[in-house]
Amino acid sequence: MASALTDKLTRLVKEMRGQARITESNVQDMLREVRMALLEADVALPVVRDFIARVKDKALGQEVLGSLKPGQALVGIVNKELAATMGDGVADINLAAQPPAVILMAGLQGAGKTTTTAKLAKHLIEKRKKKVLTVSGDVYRPAAIEQLKTVSKQAGAEWFASTPDQKPRDIALAALDYAKKHYFDVLLVDTAGRLAIDELLMQEIKDLHAVLNPVETLFVVDAMQGQDAVNTARAFKEALPLTGIVLTKLDGDSRGGAALSVRQVTGAPIKFAGVSEKIDGLEVFDAERHAGRILG
Ligand code: GDP
Repeated sequence: MASALTDKLTRLVKEMRGQARITESNVQDMLREVRMALLEADVALPVVRDFIARVKDKALGQEVLGSLKPGQALVGIVNKELAATMGDGVADINLAAQPPAVILMAGLQGAGKTTTTAKLAKHLIEKRKKKVLTVSGDVYRPAAIEQLKTVSKQAGAEWFASTPDQKPRDIALAALDYAKKHYFDVLLVDTAGRLAIDELLMQEIKDLHAVLNPVETLFVVDAMQGQDAVNTARAFKEALPLTGIVLTKLDGDSRGGAALSVRQVTGAPIKFAGVSEKIDGLEVFDAERHAGRILG
């Protein structure tokens, strides 16, 4: 695999030439380069430390020390470990519930929740042949309710009207009732964003979770958030039993280190990646490909 990291490690190994075999201290030097690559990709520092500690044992094994191309061998190990950490094969949405299967969308304002709600609706309609209803619980921003209406239409999903004078809990219950009566397979619930972690809004989404009993609680996070993604992810994980992550804005120029951070902090699988502003810009998350991107 050719990557900037492989090049750096190959250069390091060249400097070691002449030695009978590479040593533990050479491996330490190489691991320092891996650490730099992860930090450059904006993986959060504690997550990097943890990750390096995990690959260290493997790297000190014969696979690297005994290899003719130790640099490449190490990149192989790092790649494999990254992919294994970020992916566990549970990519698609779980709909195993008495219909309507409720999907609750959580995340900071601007993360891409509303856009992702519509993308997901389209995915479920086209790929899973489901009848999908969307509803917005964002009573703080009337524009957000309108935005969901517009994008739901683009997705071919039905949208359940809500108004800013209603309580989010009442909206959720009314939408659920409507979805049951009209035999919807899935109810997608968009929620109020928060600019930063806000106790009141966190309580509100916890209450929504309690009344809706969703089969999926998806944490939507902007890949460009970098280091901050860790704190956000931790706060949402403490508030909600997250079942999956959607990493948005992967079409941006970030190396997407947030994926590793968020995965490690929440323990939830990364299910989808947002790759454009458009309604069809949603892809099933590919951990191996993403590992390559993080390593640069
Ligand atoms: P919300 O506040 O979490 O509901 O976020 P929105 O859905 O309103 O999205 C915020 C902005 O990010 C909008 O301008 C979206 O078009 C944009 N956006 C969302 N997902 C993506 C993505 O995957 N790629 C890109 N380039 N833009 C995105």
